[in-house]
Amino acid sequence: MTEDVNPFKSLQQQLDQAASYLDIDDGLLERLKQPERVLETNLTIKRDDGSLDTVQAYRSQFNGDRGPYKGGIRYHPGVNRDEVKALSGWMVYKCAVVDIPFGGGKGGIAIDPSNYSVDEIERITRAFATELRPLIGEEKDIPAPDVNTGQREMNWFKDTYETLEDTTAPGVITGKAPDSGGSAGRVEATGRSTVIAAREAFEYLGRSIEGASVAVQGYGNAGWIAAKLAHSMGAQIVAVSDSSGGVYSKEGLNPVRVREHKDETGSVVGYEGAESELTNEELLTLDVDLLIPAALENAIDEEIASDISADIISEAANGPLTPKADNILADKDVHIVPDILANAGGVTVSYFEWVQNRQRFYWDEKRVNDELESVIVNAFDTLIDTYEEKNLPTLRTAAYVVAIQRVINAYDQGGAWP
Ligand code: NAD
Repeated sequence: MTEDVNPFKSLQQQLDQAASYLDIDDGLLERLKQPERVLETNLTIKRDDGSLDTVQAYRSQFNGDRGPYKGGIRYHPGVNRDEVKALSGWMVYKCAVVDIPFGGGKGGIAIDPSNYSVDEIERITRAFATELRPLIGEEKDIPAPDVNTGQREMNWFKDTYETLEDTTAPGVITGKAPDSGGSAGRVEATGRSTVIAAREAFEYLGRSIEGASVAVQGYGNAGWIAAKLAHSMGAQIVAVSDSSGGVYSKEGLNPVRVREHKDETGSVVGYEGAESELTNEELLTLDVDLLIPAALENAIDEEIASDISADIISEAANGPLTPKADNILADKDVHIVPDILANAGGVTVSYFEWVQNRQRFYWDEKRVNDELESVIVNAFDTLIDTYEEKNLPTLRTAAYVVAIQRVINAYDQGGAWP
């Protein structure tokens, strides 16, 4: 990586770029570019050996004009204030582009969870939930999973909140296990929307995802499900990777077997059905029809972008392209389905989970998947209409134009407050 890109600056550049196609007052644009508030806190927990450990944690509530703040909680050593601010801002525009009634938030703890026991992770999670309790709530701020967090952490989070509040409030957090109030289809939702959006992009270009060659960077929740669903639509998964490296097969990999291998060994590397191994950089620059970055932000910088040969990119990860990479790929006519639409399945099914929690009435998986399909296809169609009507340079700009306009409408309609 040659660029050291601050994701918060990337977000602000994306907003500036889209705003230049809208008639927005400078003061209002500034409001759209800054979080409403950020909590920075230090959590102290007891390690299993009795020693104390203090870790940094954050929660950013970026914008609540369209509804309660909504966004995941990430456990990763790279978590920092600006990253959390950026991720919370992307949530605002993601919820707006798929038109679900939420604002945007995001949280994180700067730890490498592999350095902690399960009991220690539980204590860290409960300490964070305790610290966040005054800020969150079913109608205020609703966290969810992100990198290195999942159902287990969400269940602990809900239990901590409900115990401290002496109530039941399953809608305080989403991404829970089904027996703790989770929704059918939530685990698969992010990968599912990434692939639905990619399928729509192929169709828009007069092509088909069936038979397309696909490379997937990152084989966690988002990446592996995207690989599995693309494979089920007849695409050929020629390469996948994780933080240890990647595997390649010209004839196509079996995504389920690769996942089983990763579950057994901790990595996709060494999968016996592969033809060869490759680095993440080699994977990103493969000559494929569809590239799915599903690891972390800034995975593709300008150097990698110049070597990218994919026709379509569907962004499962948040912010996987640096702004310079984005410009290079736009010049190369690579069709990029932006993260705020492609990976919006996660938050959309989180919304469905919240609706079900509030109603205490649960849907089956088919209903969840059908509703998700219609949200993503409608959002994609609106995006294309705006892209064509306004003659916008990229689908990303079109997504931000749609989303910013919706946030501004909600803010304006709220009227003035002294
Ligand atoms: P995860 O922890 O389940 O998986 C992350 C994967 O990325 C792992 O396979 C890891 O090995 C790999 N990875 C990490 N660093 C890497 C590197 N430098 N090179 C290659 N691979 C690397 O996380 P996830 O939930 O799948 O999230 C992945 C991305 O998708 C993140 O950007 C996240 O914000 C975004 N996202 C996730 C959801 C969701 O519902 N899970 C929703 C929206 C967006």
